[in-house]
Amino acid sequence: MTDNPSLAAKTKDIINRYGFAFKKNFGQNFLVDEHVLDKIISAADISSEDIVLEIGPGIGTLTAALAKRAKKVISVEIDKTLIPVLNEVLSGFDNIEIINGDILKTDIAKISEENGGKRLKLVANLPYYITTPIIMGILEQRLPVESMTVMIQREVAMRMQAEPSSKDYGALSLAVKYRCTPYLAANVPQNCFMPRPNVDSAVITLTPHAKPPVEVKDEELMFALIKAAFSQRRKTLLNCIFNSGQWDMGKDDIAELIRGCGFDERVRGEDLSLEDFAKLSDAMSA
Ligand code: SAM
Repeated sequence: MTDNPSLAAKTKDIINRYGFAFKKNFGQNFLVDEHVLDKIISAADISSEDIVLEIGPGIGTLTAALAKRAKKVISVEIDKTLIPVLNEVLSGFDNIEIINGDILKTDIAKISEENGGKRLKLVANLPYYITTPIIMGILEQRLPVESMTVMIQREVAMRMQAEPSSKDYGALSLAVKYRCTPYLAANVPQNCFMPRPNVDSAVITLTPHAKPPVEVKDEELMFALIKAAFSQRRKTLLNCIFNSGQWDMGKDDIAELIRGCGFDERVRGEDLSLEDFAKLSDAMSA
């Protein structure tokens, strides 16, 4: 059962009419809950000036809700069997552009350029297999995206917004903190989708920073240190850095470096903040 049988019934009807078969490999779990749809729309904060980029419109449920508020919605859908469905379901709108393609191969900067150079608001019920590549790709390449409001696996959302010394804290939390501000907008149970996924979901809004919250001399070095620090979770930072074999340093030198930054040499990566990693990285590159 879902909170809104009408959206579920409408989805079922479209699927039957088109003889559509869900494709697991494309992460096709369609949203059939009106309340969650409203939550995504309000978290995305769409105005009539906004150009929205939607990933994976499916049968167009979220697309239509977005198009009612935005100046324009550009939706990229990989599954060509959904294109005729989308053309029919969305025929009443003149501000939607459907692109049949893979978002991972789509030139997002060009879409912004073609739409007056405006930064895009990305909104998506994401296929979970592309969550990290798409989000981190946009953040790392500093693509012209003003905000991302995305449905993702709850477990990944928790890792994205975790703070030091918590069980979910790790390399992803630090990468996210360096590049954007995360805000958890909603928790979404499995029964809000058709078919039901076997994990819970969450809607998270990520707003990229104009400038990182910490200054670091060598960004690449800091992220290499972070990766090493979380490669063996139960080990100390000292052992993790040493065991990674990436730096030509003995254990004593590493211990001195750690102490020199004001940390206990038995500290674990999970206890260090972004500022701490930046400090460690700058000390290493000095
Ligand atoms: N937006 C719809 C909804 O909320 O009901 C569908 C969401 S469903 C979780 C994910 C959608 O992304 C599917 O329509 C799927 O075909 C599409 N998709 C999967 N991989 C894709 C990719 N690499 N590029 C673009 N679309 C993709």
